Amino acid sequence: MNETRQRYVYGFAEGDMDHKDLLGGKGANLAEMTNLGLPVPPGFTISTEACRRFLTDGKEPPGLAEEIGEHLKRLESARGMRLGAADNPMLVSVRSGAKYSMPGMMETVLDIGLNDASVDGLAAAAGDERFAWDSYRRLVQMFGATVLGIDPGEFATALDEVKRSRGVAGDDGLDAAALREVVAAYKRIVREATGRDFPQDPREQLDMAVRAVFSSWNIERARVYRAREHIPHDLGTAVNVMSMVFGNLGPDSGTGVAFTRDPATGAPGVYGDYLANAQGEDVVAGTRTPVPLQELERIDPASFEELLGVMSVLEGHYRDLCDVEFTIERGKLWMLQTRVGKRTAAAAFRLAVQFLDDGLIDVKTALGRVTGEQLVQLMFPQFDPHSDGEPIANGVPASPGAAVGAAVFDSAAATRHEGPVILVRRETSPDDLPGIIAAEGVLTSRGGKTSHAAVVARGMGKTCVVGTDTLEVDAEERRFTAPDGTVVREGDLISIDGTTGAVYAGAIEVVPSAVVEYFEGRLDADERHLDPVLQAVARMMVYADEHRRLGVHANADTPADAARARQFGAEGIGLCRTEHMFLGERRHHVEELILAESAAEQDKVLAELLPMQLGDFVGIFAAMDGLPVTIRLIDPPLHEFLPDFTDLSVKVALAEERGAVDGGDVRLLQAVRRLHEQNPMLGLRGVRLGLVVPGLVAMQVRAIAEAAAARIRAGGDPRPEIMVPLIGGPEEFELMREEIQRVLDDVAETAGFAISAKIGTMIELPRAALTAGRIAERAEFFSFGTNDLTQTTWGFSRDDVEGSFFPVYFEKGIFAASPFESLDEVGVGRLVSIAVDEGRAVRPDLAIGVCGEHGGDPSSVRFFDRVGLDYVSCSPFRVPVARLEAGRAAVAAKAGPDARPRAAKR
Ligand code: PEP
Ligand code: MG
Repeated sequence: MNETRQRYVYGFAEGDMDHKDLLGGKGANLAEMTNLGLPVPPGFTISTEACRRFLTDGKEPPGLAEEIGEHLKRLESARGMRLGAADNPMLVSVRSGAKYSMPGMMETVLDIGLNDASVDGLAAAAGDERFAWDSYRRLVQMFGATVLGIDPGEFATALDEVKRSRGVAGDDGLDAAALREVVAAYKRIVREATGRDFPQDPREQLDMAVRAVFSSWNIERARVYRAREHIPHDLGTAVNVMSMVFGNLGPDSGTGVAFTRDPATGAPGVYGDYLANAQGEDVVAGTRTPVPLQELERIDPASFEELLGVMSVLEGHYRDLCDVEFTIERGKLWMLQTRVGKRTAAAAFRLAVQFLDDGLIDVKTALGRVTGEQLVQLMFPQFDPHSDGEPIANGVPASPGAAVGAAVFDSAAATRHEGPVILVRRETSPDDLPGIIAAEGVLTSRGGKTSHAAVVARGMGKTCVVGTDTLEVDAEERRFTAPDGTVVREGDLISIDGTTGAVYAGAIEVVPSAVVEYFEGRLDADERHLDPVLQAVARMMVYADEHRRLGVHANADTPADAARARQFGAEGIGLCRTEHMFLGERRHHVEELILAESAAEQDKVLAELLPMQLGDFVGIFAAMDGLPVTIRLIDPPLHEFLPDFTDLSVKVALAEERGAVDGGDVRLLQAVRRLHEQNPMLGLRGVRLGLVVPGLVAMQVRAIAEAAAARIRAGGDPRPEIMVPLIGGPEEFELMREEIQRVLDDVAETAGFAISAKIGTMIELPRAALTAGRIAERAEFFSFGTNDLTQTTWGFSRDDVEGSFFPVYFEKGIFAASPFESLDEVGVGRLVSIAVDEGRAVRPDLAIGVCGEHGGDPSSVRFFDRVGLDYVSCSPFRVPVARLEAGRAAVAAKAGPDARPRAAKR
């Protein structure tokens, strides 16, 4: 083998922000900042490739150790210091950094390089013995827990013991001598737990920390986070080794997190938290409540000015909201991290419009910055502003929305509890992730907008209130107490408002979102003027509509739904399910139809049903005047319209006992028994029903045609399209088509004018997709029924599996999202592509849409755009989401750098 040796390590000055695959997000952005000349402590990044090799082979790839050695040497000469030297030691931090941000999910080790000798060197260099021993204590603790896998509780106990013996309450009451004692106790814990001493060799510490960070890619919480955020499991993390700077060297030092604009509301103006005399981890962990960034102006005006300058450079360079982590070491500002910041849905819309108006981005980029998922969030209800509920506390609003649920005090309770819950914690740690996922909202008594709870909740679109420090949270006793004495125990209902920060005992009434009211045309332009979020949404919708190629239709079965859909921007009805027209009061007609003993009796029942159906269709055509209305002929199995077999058996048996048997019930019972199927979804339904009970379809088509005739006479412009469900191939379709055409001609002849209706079919069985070319010889349009197509392609019962074994499939990573929600592009999507290509090869003007649930799913919409469908059809509420996504899909023909693969993998 004489291939050139793979390279794994890159100095910060060697990379740039386009290499996130290799350097991870943090590494790529550190490189970018370094090259912009910003004050970044020197360091290097070990690539994700090295991590992948390590995870596959179980050991470092050959050459990695030497490369790290070379970069370490360069780093030492840049700083004029040596790692862990007894005299003026250099220390380094070792941090994870994957391609996509996974806040707090993987490991970090700070202060690498400290040992029994260099601790004195650090004390001398810093002129602060306490600081040096505190750093050593932090290292042994962090290293012990993350690298050596020792229970962190052991360190906490040892620390408490020293505090008790010295009679001090907080960590900061411990002097250098006490901290020496703590370090000695910690080192004993390490020896007892691992059978060896805490490693003194700085390079060994570094190598072990790097390995631990690699391995942390696969820890449970990281896997859970990735599954939830649709981040592939095979990317691996990069490792950033950076020369340490210290924010805990006294009052002229500190650390903070800042955003170039407010990530919660999108309001302009820098925003952030600052904590004096602290390490970065203290801010993110939320263990101490920081002060607003503006305070820094008073504390250290020079550093504040410099920071503002850096942030403005970053925003101009990235042309987006950036967040930064910084440290001030004795008055000197250092930038530790930047990235394009996470934001709430409302902020995303406002920021897109702001950056557009500032001329920093174009409309296409702006569309790329808002998502259908975010629009969905804005369409959630809010708390009723007129509710007279009085908050029992007010915290920091960290992620908007209105959440009502039972208070729970840990992750286990959150996942166990049935019904909506609010996770209440003093502060959250990454281990709370399952609880955050399970909860409607998160409430903490500590931390700022950048604490772990806030960042994770915002990323997931969960309502979140943090820093509610007037609440006393007692997780052990499973309760919290408000200043007015209100005690909330586990299971009690509470309400939290992530937009205002208010916390209420009990359930507060929730009202519809303003965005929905806007879509429904219930807000006038002036009112809209007042709310910048609505304005931004309205503008982005205009841009999406201008750019999209895909049409957006709605699934609607009633005139009211049709009207609502039209208001939401639907350009027609893609699926009118006619079966509801046989329910309720009309059900007994279906029973009579099934029990009819002669053709004449059957005709009589159908004649009774006809005017009812006709009335329905007239209403829908009126609501969608001038737009296509695709009506699907009856689909579900007949037994769905009949009484339950057991109920009816009991009724008949009881009547027999009383000697009062009803002949009708007995015949009905026989019919129910006769029609019973083991697998009704695979039984007598769809086109099969139409072929077996032909009068039914003829009646439906007559109702459609006569409704169209009535609308034409009334001066309307009905555009009916008739759709045959569940065909498996061309033969079934052709028989139905002939029957439909016959009835259409018949009605037209009686009316005396032409009634045109396209005749097409659903493609919702694999066999239909595979014979699409032949079906297209006669069908004028296709509409993919991706619900049934998913069911029959996977062989999953759509009514059963999501609640039964899907959780295991998620856990095992078989799919990242339910294939009933997000189209399985690899399998079901392939059938869709085949049918599109083969259908259009035969009939180039074949109109093709989709009317399964996937028609309103953002990632599926992008797929349907790619494979060339003409339109998607979805529930009225999702129409704006589909419009937005269709616009985004059109401008993102080539995927951006942050596009994530979705749907089933492997
Ligand atoms: C489908 O199968 O995707 C579809 C739209 O039809 P239904 O859900 O009514 O079976
Ligand atoms: Mg179907």
